Amino acid sequence: MKREAIIIGAGYSGLSMAALLAKDGWQVTVLEKNDEIGGRARLWESEGFSFDMGPSWYLMPEVFERFFTLFDRKREEFYDLRRLDPYYKVFFSPDDAALLRPDRQANVDLFESFEPGGGKALERYMDEATYKYDIAINTFLYREYKHITDFFNKQVVFEGTKLHIFSKLDKYVSRFFTDRRARQILEYAMVFLGTDPQSAPALYSIMSHVDMKGGVFFPKNGMTGVASGIADLCRELGVKILTGQEVTAITVDGRTAKGVTTRDKTYTADLIVSGADYEHVESQLLDTAHRTYHKPYWDKRVVAPSMFIAYLGIGRKLKNLEHHNLYFQEEWGTHFDTIFKKPAWPENPCFYLSVISKTDPEMAPEGCENVFILIPAAPGLDDSDDAQREAYYDHIIKHIETVTGENFHDDILVKRLFSQRDFISDYHAYKGTALGLSHTLLQTAVFRPAHRSKKVKNLYHTGQYTHPGVGVPMALISSEIVAEEIRKNFHSQGL
Ligand SMILES: Cc1cc2nc3c(=O)[nH]c(=O)nc-3n(C[C@H](O)[C@H](O)[C@H](O)COP(=O)(O)OP(=O)(O)OC[C@H]3O[C@@H](n4cnc5c(N)ncnc54)[C@H](O)[C@@H]3O)c2cc1C
Repeated sequence: MKREAIIIGAGYSGLSMAALLAKDGWQVTVLEKNDEIGGRARLWESEGFSFDMGPSWYLMPEVFERFFTLFDRKREEFYDLRRLDPYYKVFFSPDDAALLRPDRQANVDLFESFEPGGGKALERYMDEATYKYDIAINTFLYREYKHITDFFNKQVVFEGTKLHIFSKLDKYVSRFFTDRRARQILEYAMVFLGTDPQSAPALYSIMSHVDMKGGVFFPKNGMTGVASGIADLCRELGVKILTGQEVTAITVDGRTAKGVTTRDKTYTADLIVSGADYEHVESQLLDTAHRTYHKPYWDKRVVAPSMFIAYLGIGRKLKNLEHHNLYFQEEWGTHFDTIFKKPAWPENPCFYLSVISKTDPEMAPEGCENVFILIPAAPGLDDSDDAQREAYYDHIIKHIETVTGENFHDDILVKRLFSQRDFISDYHAYKGTALGLSHTLLQTAVFRPAHRSKKVKNLYHTGQYTHPGVGVPMALISSEIVAEEIRKNFHSQGL
């Protein structure tokens, strides 16, 4: 008889976890509350338009390649990949925009055009970013942290200054560049780590290696196509993936989880791994006595931003936009303040806008475009009033039209909004966060919530709340780490 494992959630972390456990000989069942797989990377289709509801940047391709090789398989057996060119377009104002490209020299020339010496400064900056990335990927990311000394080890103490763990990103970038455009290009990715450049450790300058050097790719059928590929792998390995199955409780006897209950069924298991939002699982699915973290712990966390998202099907082609587009307003600190210091809807927000039909025309009907608009916003903002939400949408559409020079509001054929309340109802997201916990120093590595419950010995957590953190590649890495821990613990404890 195979030992039985239940996975809660069919996001990237749950699916990758399921595949890894099945390979290790477990009989695995994945229970997902929504009707689709992919978690925050779900697919939404309407009138011939297909939308990646969440992630759209395929970064760190080596992490995905490595994942499939663990199964002696190749990524290309599951989905095709294409390097984008340009990687992305940045609008700094309605009449100032720049393209970031796979060609290093083109980016050097761009930075030189921002300020004299900017090109050479970019080369130095990127060399340092690559040095840190190599250490991070080989030393920090694919490992478990149980004690503070696992993190503040000899290497961190000796190399901490070279790795810039203890300095902040905005200060570090200002050592190289004075031009605000150069600085914004090198700092913007912090939002996608759920933090801001003033709080993020400068170690995260590795993100510039990730996008500008590692490259920005597009998987056929979008990021949901990748999730489907991993789900196909799961099914080949015998995993059962059940959707529309919300787990409502984890049953515990003593220090051992016995199974889970859903709205209409009970499942027994020898092992439970949750890929769902950590706070929800601890606070809603476990009795108080079995929780590792209680309310005061969650109250003190720095929660990553939520997002105001619009999915729009446009009835014509858009010429001023690329596949990935970003807008950085001159005083972007005011937008960060509305997220992290004085929660409010940002007035003149920075935004991200993607048009994936530029690369994959099959994602939209012929002659049409598929537009995704994302505005980072504070977690916990009240967005329960429909009229207010629509008014904010109208406001940002005008703003986006002014910045991009594309007037598309009369050509919108399909529209859906998604914001704080949807993150809560669809994913049980803590305070409606899109990304879990921010990547501040005190929420990095050993300081993230533990992979293994301290109260229930056969309950584990994977996914974006845990180490290494936010992002699809990180979700895969967290499952690799958890699989290794399970191997060790079940072997050593004879379970
Ligand atoms: C709009 C947006 C854009 C993003 N852009 C990028 C990007 O471009 N690139 C990138 O790498 N990352 C991006 N990210 C981050 C990335 O999507 C996430 O870090 C990653 O997908 C998290 O995966 P996960 O498996 O940890 O969690 P999730 O994807 O949230 O999966 C958790 C699953 O658990 C389910 N669940 C919750 N409670 C229960 C329950 N009680 N019972 C059963 N199931 C339950 C949920 O429905 C969900 O399916 C983005 C995120 C968002 C929201």
